[in-house]
Amino acid sequence: MPELPEVETVRRGLEPAMEGARFVKVELRRGDLRWPLPKDFAKRLEGETVTGLGRRAKYLLADLSSGDVLLMHLGMSGSFRVSREKGNKKIGRYHHERAQHAAHDHVIFHMSSGAVVTFNDPRRFGSMKLIARAKLDDEPLLAGLGPEPLGNAFDAAMLAKSCQGKKTSLKAALLDQRVVAGLGNIYVCEALYRARLSPKRIAATIATRTGAPNERAVRLVDGIKAVLNDAIKAGGSSLRDHKRTDGELGMFQHHFRVYDREGEPCGTPHCRGTIKRIVQNGRSTFYCPACQK
Ligand SMILES: [Zn+2]
Repeated sequence: MPELPEVETVRRGLEPAMEGARFVKVELRRGDLRWPLPKDFAKRLEGETVTGLGRRAKYLLADLSSGDVLLMHLGMSGSFRVSREKGNKKIGRYHHERAQHAAHDHVIFHMSSGAVVTFNDPRRFGSMKLIARAKLDDEPLLAGLGPEPLGNAFDAAMLAKSCQGKKTSLKAALLDQRVVAGLGNIYVCEALYRARLSPKRIAATIATRTGAPNERAVRLVDGIKAVLNDAIKAGGSSLRDHKRTDGELGMFQHHFRVYDREGEPCGTPHCRGTIKRIVQNGRSTFYCPACQK
């Protein structure tokens, strides 16, 4: 399932194709993804220009000249493919490099940039929605989302405040989208490993009784930002490959230090621990019991 770094990489991959470009034609291969698409979806997009392509947590937000915002989510298996409109073909006819995927191509944007942006989603947990920018604050999908982990506002003081008095585990606290937005199972495991904090540790222990951050909170915020930045950087490399290979924007192969490494030796210098897998709240946690305290 794509997490925040993957979504950010997708955003960067779509930016040159979509930002500043107009929707020339929008093809819908079906009327629904996870939820039904708006009835007038294509009509509300066609002729409009994308004035900006942003991201909030795992949502992509395309600002349109009409004042609408196109909200897009990759779900479990969604990806975008950017190809070029073939010069000798009319808009609306396009060539599939990967015909085997065509059955799951659900939405196709033909942009005035000459790019064809195809949304492919075999499991159809992805979604697209049009919302008036003025009503974005009322949007239930976005309401209640905590701070962006890579934003300046997210720091040790903020994280400590959110964890003050929390009796849940640190793992559960970090997966709570109200505490920090966009973190999933993989990057929470990786961030805790980098911070050398046990996923079982009680969340409140990163704050003093008055809610001030202690040095664990500082380490944890550093760990979160570092793991996300590294993954985005790796995504950037995939993106450069993508331009050469016409691959899909969605899932990338990353190198994880603890995730899915049960039984392997810990990579922390001077640590002789072995990566262990436990189940917390029904989901796998990977960590090193020797150096994560
Ligand atoms: Zn270790």
